[in-house]
Amino acid sequence: MAAGFSDPIWRKPQAATAFQSELSAGATLDVVIVGGGIMGLSTALHAARAGLSIQVLDAGLIGQGASGLNGGQVIPGLKYDPEWLIEHFGKERGEALVAFAAATADAVFDVIRDEKLAVPFTRNGWIQAAHTETALIAAANRDRQWRSRGADVKLLDRAEIAAMTGAKGYLGGWLDSRAGVIDPLSYTLELARVALAAGARIAEQQRVVKLRNEAGAWRVSTQGGAELRARSVVLATNAYTDGLLPGLAQTIVPLHSFQIATAPLPAELAASILPGGQAVSDSRRILVYYRRSPDGRMVLGGRGRMALPSSAADWAHCERALTRLYPALAGIAIEKRWFGRVALTPDHLPHLHEPEKGLLAVVGCQGRGVGLMSALGKRMAGYLATGDVSQLPFPLSPIRPIPFHAFRQVGVAAAITWYRMLDAFER
Ligand SMILES: Cc1cc2nc3c(=O)[nH]c(=O)nc-3n(C[C@H](O)[C@H](O)[C@H](O)COP(=O)(O)OP(=O)(O)OC[C@H]3O[C@@H](n4cnc5c(N)ncnc54)[C@H](O)[C@@H]3O)c2cc1C
Repeated sequence: MAAGFSDPIWRKPQAATAFQSELSAGATLDVVIVGGGIMGLSTALHAARAGLSIQVLDAGLIGQGASGLNGGQVIPGLKYDPEWLIEHFGKERGEALVAFAAATADAVFDVIRDEKLAVPFTRNGWIQAAHTETALIAAANRDRQWRSRGADVKLLDRAEIAAMTGAKGYLGGWLDSRAGVIDPLSYTLELARVALAAGARIAEQQRVVKLRNEAGAWRVSTQGGAELRARSVVLATNAYTDGLLPGLAQTIVPLHSFQIATAPLPAELAASILPGGQAVSDSRRILVYYRRSPDGRMVLGGRGRMALPSSAADWAHCERALTRLYPALAGIAIEKRWFGRVALTPDHLPHLHEPEKGLLAVVGCQGRGVGLMSALGKRMAGYLATGDVSQLPFPLSPIRPIPFHAFRQVGVAAAITWYRMLDAFER
């Protein structure tokens, strides 16, 4: 990541290596987890609680991946609504998936409560803000489907959304009260702390470079020359997937999401901007998402260019979006800028793979992984502990690299430019 632009952490500088368990080459572990983000750490915590011996290895520092860098929006559900899931996956798996998707935000708030995590959070809901009639119709459809299943959701009219967000330009929207906001870095570091306390080992700056199956156990080699043995390996590398498992990186399209944080807002402005503390994502093709931070800043994010940023100008689209929504913030300083990677899959669903027995991989957070990966980690731990594949909400699928993967990236960049133009016309 580009120096100076990768640090979302304005309250809590990270120690150089807070997690440095000794790598033991002796006994065969139950599980080595590659990647210490929310997916890897949630798996580690629940698997350690189930009595498994766990080693987490991360190539960088805990929280330096998407998990520490994200927008902190804890949103239940998947990209698809319940009726689509049931139609696509059939009644039994579809209904199970809907129940799983409905509870992904609970997975976060339950672990914060049960494990007493020191994480700033609010749970006052998430607003999907509609800026066109088409988006309003989609919101009404989503509302009907979730409300008929008893979810605490409601449609917002123009006056309600204006009062709740203080933002300009929305026709209405949808409030999902199951959702909330966390401080993402605190959450990730706290997950690591309690996973460690539950018995998992965690080592930072340990890139895994080779996996070999030897007589039914996996031999895991790190860049530094350490060798571990484990019955199972879980790749929880998501958008930061490298060439460790051939073909896996080619199953996703990694995209950059850029964020800015203002200086803490003065009281007179703060009173009218998201007074209820909800998170917001809007309905544009290239959506922006925003929230207030616990220390009173406005934090806003959106898609960014794939080349590494080189100056503050690379975040100009976020600043424009902020002042379009909140003209009164025009004079407020932008104090922080950072970015991270999200992983898209062609079908917009997370993919779970087990190409060989005991070798598991999870990719494809679609930019909405805080709840999803917390919940999936718990299910993955259940699978590791019992071998019961019904613990996994999504089917295990073969690794299918996207054809012409290198060109897909260029295509996505072109599509983003095109969609930005369309969004601008709809203003
Ligand atoms: C800017 C941004 C904003 C976002 N906003 C939201 C949001 O508001 N709400 C939401 O729900 N989701 C959001 N997301 C998505 C969410 O952050 C991710 O879905 C989630 O954090 C993924 O967690 P993870 O554990 O799967 O991956 P990560 O947290 O990315 O962890 C993967 C880890 O794998 C490690 N790794 C990779 N290769 C190796 C290797 N060979 N050896 C060892 N380690 C390796 C990396 O170092 C990394 O730490 C956002 C993402 C970004 C980037």
